[in-house]
Amino acid sequence: MSGNLCFVLGDQLTRGLSSLEDLDPENDVVLMVEVTEEARYVRHHKQKIALILSAMRHFAEALRGEGISVDYVTLDDPDNSQSFSDELARAVKRHDPGRVVVTEPGEWRVWEMMSGWEEALGLPVEIREDTRFYCSRDDFAAFAKGRKNLRMETFYREMRRRTGILMAEGEPEGGQWNFDKENRKSLPRDLRPPRRDRFAPDKVTRQVLDLVAERFADHFGDLDRFGWAVTREDALAALDHFIADALPCFGDYQDAMKAGEDFLFHGLISPYLNLGLLEAAEVCERAEDAWRKGEVPLNAAEGFIRQILGWREFVRGVYWTEMPDYAETNHLNATRDLPWVYWSGETAMRCMSEVIGTTRRNAYAHHIQRLMVTGNFALLAGVAPAQIEEWYLAVYADAFDWVELPNTHGMAIHADGGLLGSKPYAASGSYINRMSDYCRGCDYDHKKRTGEGACPFNYLYWNFLMENEERFADNPRMALVYKTLSRFEPEERDAMARAARAFLDAPEDAPVQQRLDAGW
Ligand SMILES: Cc1cc2nc3c(=O)[nH]c(=O)nc-3n(C[C@H](O)[C@H](O)[C@H](O)COP(=O)(O)OP(=O)(O)OC[C@H]3O[C@@H](n4cnc5c(N)ncnc54)[C@H](O)[C@@H]3O)c2cc1C
Ligand code: SF4
Repeated sequence: MSGNLCFVLGDQLTRGLSSLEDLDPENDVVLMVEVTEEARYVRHHKQKIALILSAMRHFAEALRGEGISVDYVTLDDPDNSQSFSDELARAVKRHDPGRVVVTEPGEWRVWEMMSGWEEALGLPVEIREDTRFYCSRDDFAAFAKGRKNLRMETFYREMRRRTGILMAEGEPEGGQWNFDKENRKSLPRDLRPPRRDRFAPDKVTRQVLDLVAERFADHFGDLDRFGWAVTREDALAALDHFIADALPCFGDYQDAMKAGEDFLFHGLISPYLNLGLLEAAEVCERAEDAWRKGEVPLNAAEGFIRQILGWREFVRGVYWTEMPDYAETNHLNATRDLPWVYWSGETAMRCMSEVIGTTRRNAYAHHIQRLMVTGNFALLAGVAPAQIEEWYLAVYADAFDWVELPNTHGMAIHADGGLLGSKPYAASGSYINRMSDYCRGCDYDHKKRTGEGACPFNYLYWNFLMENEERFADNPRMALVYKTLSRFEPEERDAMARAARAFLDAPEDAPVQQRLDAGW
């Protein structure tokens, strides 16, 4: 064969992918491989592995349906070497291509691997830009150049201007860039979120589910509720459902949390975007279109678009501009081991058990759950960055390093020293009480800072502020909380510091720590 060997990775399932754009079905072969190395380098949630493998198999079938030759190596193929580089080398031997064509990966680790392929294989390897994003790596680097701190809002406004999304004659629609103030409502008791579509597993998915149950039994998470879309058609149906039934309330209740309601008005589309079943541009266009037709309010459409055109593009830019050093920073010197509760969910803290519960059941938690419950706890408890980052990378169906790392390292635990956010997202039990109904059914009391039954988020929060007083006291965005802290009597400060130490040194779940190695 003298044509191209187009190597498509598991999160590149887009027909318009740059490595496939000039594919010649007569001469070229598409290579796709399932390898244990990728499924195990962190112990991914079982649903995440099943989603990726099933979506890959369906994508390969769709390409074959177009008459394209696809060389697909399954996980249980006895000859599978279980590594990307070795499988590519084996495929080069099978097909003897003129060159290998790939699209740049979403992860620094794979980027480094990819950069060595040309030399290792002894033939040209063309690495093409991933054009599925609004902002290229180079464009973001140009934006970041010379800026000491990177602020999403500045970037987002630039992206709005550049794309013309929600713009009218150079000005933001509605006269405002964002409607955040309207988007912080707590959920009224009688408001019912829509029922969410689940996609019944077909034959291919059922085979994958069996394979995952057998091979990855020791990984976290339930498989029985698997209902993710695994084809582009179903992902588009999920998007239709979201735009019609959930987007109208997305803005208002974006930050709300409710026990027993795992999805509220969120999109549930991040796995589809990150795998390539949906594209960012089509999703933003659909949301803008729904607003222009009067089907959704502006605060909903803008709030949703900002997550994708703003945050998603921004964190990707930060990742590629700052890696590999970014992952190594530990601004707050956090060193604590990840508490076992993150895996077991067994805790009297209702907020933590609710969020870890949905994570286990669905490989999903929405943004405020990730940021203000599990992320906030890791920040206040001083969990070592690498450990909490590994957890986030493992447990969510949408988790890929380029998006998980900046969200965790920068936004949730402030390990980058404020490169991504101007202050840490630290909060006490009052915030969780305001934005959820979790505290109502909790053994702890969100109003108590010390003493019997005091909410751990309270004393951990104040203890965090005391421990980091030198770092943050001059931050204008934290002036108010430090003013409040200064009014506490020394005895109360002492009591909170003692409570925090006692809780962290002997967390509720200490006796089950040993189960870490026993699987679950
Ligand atoms: C600690 C932490 C870790 C996270 N890890 C991931 C991750 O591994 N993968 C991932 O896709 N998102 C991650 N996020 C961002 C966000 O929580 C998820 O994108 C969102 O919850 C996905 O659910 P949804 O599709 O229902 O989102 P919606 O609330 O409906 O938002 C719409 C879309 O906007 C995008 N988006 C929203 N917020 C962000 C953000 N902060 N960064 C990037 N994109 C965003 C997503 O593509 C999402 O699908 C993380 C957030 C935190 C705080
Ligand atoms: S009282 Fe504290 S621990 Fe309990 S749910 Fe509320 S914030 Fe969480």
